[in-house]
Amino acid sequence: MIKKIDHVGIAVKDLAAAIKFYEGLLGLKVTDTEVVEGQKVKVAFLPTGDSEVELLESTTSDGPVAKYIEKNGEGIQHIAFRVDNLAEKLAELKEKGVRLIDEKPRRGAGGAMIAFLHPKSTSGTLVELCERK
Ligand code: ZN
Repeated sequence: MIKKIDHVGIAVKDLAAAIKFYEGLLGLKVTDTEVVEGQKVKVAFLPTGDSEVELLESTTSDGPVAKYIEKNGEGIQHIAFRVDNLAEKLAELKEKGVRLIDEKPRRGAGGAMIAFLHPKSTSGTLVELCERK
């Protein structure tokens, strides 16, 4: 049911500065950038093999990524696992008592359908499940 790690979401204060490292120094390539209004973030996608790094810069001071940085500093904010049937997986986890942030799939970056699980149920990591067509 879990297919692979789809992406790792990294919260950064300054997207251009982060791209300077990940693209300019590390050697990944930014294939696309996108503003996701629902999450108040600007995202840069940097594929690496079959997965990708997503750099996340908040577009407002009260967005989830801004709040994350305020609390924890910059760094890995979430890890996303690819599933083939997100709605089904969410229902299954809910039934097993897992706390969900998103009860239903919603649209995320890159056209994916996503849902977050609460870190209280995952030993502390913000876990995203994502389904791509
Ligand atoms: Zn994500």
